[in-house]
Amino acid sequence: MTERESRYDAYLEKNRRYLWNPFTQMKEYLHDEPLIVERGEGTKLIDIKGKVYYDGNASVWLNPHGHGRKELNDAIKEQLDQIAHSTLLGAANVPALDLAERLVGITPAGLNKVFYSDSGAAAVEIGLKIAYQYWQHRGESKRTTFISMKNAYHGDTIGAVSVGGMDLFHATFEKMLFPTEKVSYPYPYRFQGTEAECMHAALAELEQSLQQNGECIAGVIVEPLVQGAGGMIMMPAGFLKKVEELCRDHGVLLIADEVATGFGRTGEMFACDHEEVSPDIMTLGKKLTGGYLPVAATLTTDEIYDAFYADPHEMKTFFHGHSYTGNQLGCAVALANLDIYENEGVLEHVQALSRFTAKKLRQIAELEHVGEVRQKGLMIGIELVADRTSKAPYPADVGMGKKVCRRARQLGLITRPLGDVITFMPMLVTSEAEMEEMIAILAQAIAEVTV
Ligand SMILES: *Cc1c(COP(=O)(O)O)cnc(C)c1O
Repeated sequence: MTERESRYDAYLEKNRRYLWNPFTQMKEYLHDEPLIVERGEGTKLIDIKGKVYYDGNASVWLNPHGHGRKELNDAIKEQLDQIAHSTLLGAANVPALDLAERLVGITPAGLNKVFYSDSGAAAVEIGLKIAYQYWQHRGESKRTTFISMKNAYHGDTIGAVSVGGMDLFHATFEKMLFPTEKVSYPYPYRFQGTEAECMHAALAELEQSLQQNGECIAGVIVEPLVQGAGGMIMMPAGFLKKVEELCRDHGVLLIADEVATGFGRTGEMFACDHEEVSPDIMTLGKKLTGGYLPVAATLTTDEIYDAFYADPHEMKTFFHGHSYTGNQLGCAVALANLDIYENEGVLEHVQALSRFTAKKLRQIAELEHVGEVRQKGLMIGIELVADRTSKAPYPADVGMGKKVCRRARQLGLITRPLGDVITFMPMLVTSEAEMEEMIAILAQAIAEVTV
């Protein structure tokens, strides 16, 4: 046994003894030669055996500019010489203020206030609580319910799961969750009819829900343009704008969860920018710090903020806060992250690379067991099916998505499946040559495993 191999075994043993991995069936994982990462370099991960892989989902959708970016490393070191953390509860700090100003500057018009937290799920919870309390201050305390989308994913805390729509999580935690009105997110591939009909049906459902329960609804929460964890399902063009219009018509708040889509993933800075949508509340996380540190944010309009702005005895304070809110190291690296977007033409690169990627993905779309390849910018889902003509899925116990990802990993690319949808979320910084190589690996893995 080589030195590297025995080191691997020692760490695997620690994993077995001490670590419970998130979203992971430990029995399956521990018997499946888990990846133990030691280093990252650009678009690559290097495990403790020294094997190099493409980080094909940007470390679960976080990392835009690559691992080990000097500018980001330096920003943290510089901030560290000042201070690592002090509280934002009744106080403020320099990088948190600078970052709030920058976020207001780049997000859709009207979003003028930033409330920090430390995960996408927390940002969603905060958005829901702000919306709920907002209506109380406005004297409309009947507005306590949310409309959310079937198959949605907004994070794993109780409130975030409540507005989520993934059946598996709902079945498990049902009695802990608060009820919401669920409407359909358009899924043209699985709809009997045209894309236009699919969009129309989903909008009609939303409108009906607003008409029937409008005066009890606090807000509509949606993943703009792409339902990520639900299987990379993409809204037909114009749908989001219609959702915004319906929210305005019925006087309810629109909450856009941009945790996955934000910061250039879809080709614009935010998914809402594609259709000039201005939500009342927007949640941000994931790429906000360049994939470095856990900072998330919930942005709101002045109208919402002002409804809480009152003398203390009026009891209109927003009663919410986390220990690490506004963490200086996180905010400092987020600022350096935004500098890279600004200085290096990241969006232009994403747009050009998206077009290149679309061409290269054709070889995958033609494979016998690929039902649909969906792409918005660099957000890509490959839906595997047992039969292309009938669109029949594989039986769940086959685990086809997992098998394909396992093979891709052997070939040097890491990604995770969502059921039988292979997610491909390359880093924004990916070069054309790297893209070509990654797509070749995916094509080979799918072709070999689905025969
Ligand atoms: C990942 C994700 C979340 C949850 O973010 P965490 O930081 O993992 O809590 C929320 N909403 C969407 C759309 C996401 O993709």
